[in-house]
Amino acid sequence: MRNTDSLVSVVMPVYNEEKHIITSVETVKKILVDNKINYEFVLVDDGSKDSSWEKLTELSKRDEKIKSVRLSRNFGKEAALCAGLTESTGEAIVVLDSDLQHPPELIPEFVRIWRDEDVDVVEGVKADRGKESAFHRLCANGFYKLLYRLTEIDLLNASDFKLLDRNVVEAMLSMPEKITFFRGMSAWVGFERRKVPFEVQDRVEGSSKWSFKRLLNLAITSITSYASAPLKLIIWLGFIMFIGSIVLGIQTLVRYLLGNALEGFTTVILLLLFIGSIIMVALGIIGLYLERIYHEIKGRPRYIISRRNN
Ligand code: UDP
Ligand code: MG
Repeated sequence: MRNTDSLVSVVMPVYNEEKHIITSVETVKKILVDNKINYEFVLVDDGSKDSSWEKLTELSKRDEKIKSVRLSRNFGKEAALCAGLTESTGEAIVVLDSDLQHPPELIPEFVRIWRDEDVDVVEGVKADRGKESAFHRLCANGFYKLLYRLTEIDLLNASDFKLLDRNVVEAMLSMPEKITFFRGMSAWVGFERRKVPFEVQDRVEGSSKWSFKRLLNLAITSITSYASAPLKLIIWLGFIMFIGSIVLGIQTLVRYLLGNALEGFTTVILLLLFIGSIIMVALGIIGLYLERIYHEIKGRPRYIISRRNN
């Protein structure tokens, strides 16, 4: 049982949401006020190119419980979420998108579960994936199943809509990696968890900022940060090909000694092409891990804050 007047921080990443950010924040705020939740907002402008920052400044002026920070450029949603978690001071932290695709009506329920039941993480899980295309759904489901098999981190239908206890946030912020994956980190830390299904709402306005390239990058980041299985796969491939080459080698030698060796280059060309591609794929996989190490070892900050209100 937690305190009824504990401070709840609402963290929202904002990127080019000028048209509706004020109404979105006011909508969430009204729900918090109506349910007598002691709140603060931490709005993170992820280097928007429109007037979102002016809108956030206006919101902060209207209500001193609305903090806002601006990142010096677009660092991506993951970095913006880290900034939000770092700036928040509440006992519980609710993370939600600023386009109201995560229904804010559920926040009081999240807070109630956190307060009354011994739960540290309340996770919104997608009951249906909104208007995403069948192809998108297929890719996402396939990817999460693969990730689960590789890492045992279950992200199927997971979303970034969550309530995290302060202890969970501290645990996540203590992880030193520079390239972060919010969903993965919040699952990796463990703690007592509860899932609450929700229907993904339509975007209030505008379109999603996730291109296929960004999603692919996120997928690569999450695999290379949580699983070394691809590296092991390379060793297995090597072993299998080694055994294959012993068998083929003996056969070739025997036929040579018996005087009826294979003629023609076809076999040689096929083998060369096959082995060449496998080596390149293997090098590529190693390269992805090297790239991770390269980015991590530079030790650059996850984000840079350039402006601050309240
Ligand atoms: N967002 C961000 N930085 C980015 C892209 C998106 O902070 O570089 C924010 C965006 O403002 C929104 C949330 O992340 O609050 C989800 O973005 P979006 O709605 O574009 O993605 P989707 O709902 O399609 O996953
Ligand atoms: Mg959205």
